[in-house]
Amino acid sequence: MATQISLSSLKDLVQEAYEAVKPQDGGANADYIPYLKNVPSSLFGIAMVLPSGEIVEAGDVDYVFGIESVSKVPTALLIMNQYGADEVMNKIGADATGLPFNSIMAILLEKDHPSSPLVNAGAISACSMVKPVGDAKGKWQAIETFFAGLCGSPLSVIDELYKSESATNFNNKSIAWLLKNYGRIYDDPDMSLDIYTRQCSLGVTARQLAIGAATIACGGMNPVTRKQVFDESLTARIVSLVATVGFYEHTGDWMYVSGIPAKTGVGGGILGVIPGSFGIAAFSPQLDDAGNSVRAQKAIQYITNKLGINIFTNPMLEVK
Ligand code: GLU
Repeated sequence: MATQISLSSLKDLVQEAYEAVKPQDGGANADYIPYLKNVPSSLFGIAMVLPSGEIVEAGDVDYVFGIESVSKVPTALLIMNQYGADEVMNKIGADATGLPFNSIMAILLEKDHPSSPLVNAGAISACSMVKPVGDAKGKWQAIETFFAGLCGSPLSVIDELYKSESATNFNNKSIAWLLKNYGRIYDDPDMSLDIYTRQCSLGVTARQLAIGAATIACGGMNPVTRKQVFDESLTARIVSLVATVGFYEHTGDWMYVSGIPAKTGVGGGILGVIPGSFGIAAFSPQLDDAGNSVRAQKAIQYITNKLGINIFTNPMLEVK
């Protein structure tokens, strides 16, 4: 069974979600990266993109914020596209850690296994895999091109964020070198970490993130530019990673209440995907204790619950 809705009712619903969630200002900006602490906390935007390319949005959808860990999704797709999904499984893995995003214990517990390209360890490992290996400039170009294709327009590094994060990423430095110790870094560790830090510092808007989500929902075909960005067979793989670890140690709770695979970032963005139906993104800087945007979670949950959309029961939305 599919949920049927008219485009104007969907627009009303997104606006209703915005108005209902806007006053709910729980949580706090990320403070371990100095730049993020100073982003205005009241910012809030929601964007939804349909397979037709139609964009439904409300609030601050043009504000450029730090993509942070949502960047782990495009880079995972990029290396799957370059190496094939099986090789990424062999070299990184696809298991949920059940632990915080930057856990060193997760690496020690799984011995030599970063577990998933969607946690810090696996993401740094993923950056080390990006081709051309050994060529920092070429790797960065591959990332920029892929992100632009996915989101429909180029993203630029927020210089101040990159500097702020590079000056304080001691935990990630430990991760990079611990992975090197276990043979799970496939390029220079410092260079791989720098690329990871730079990709986390890319600026993105909620609208761009929603277009990226919709490209995933549409099997790699960007519904706005109509260009095929990655191999269609990778959609199921990337969505499975997002569903199992997108909210780190709170992923199970999130899937239980929302029914939509989604990936968060400490910049306040969340990207959600219902394959075949739509991509959605929301942004607001105040986070809960696991580093997930409070308003963005509520907004996405509000919309999917009202639509009755859930990947476990009814993933089909028909907008007429
Ligand atoms: N750049 C951040 C870090 O590595 C990303 C964390 C996140 O968004 O979850 O600490």
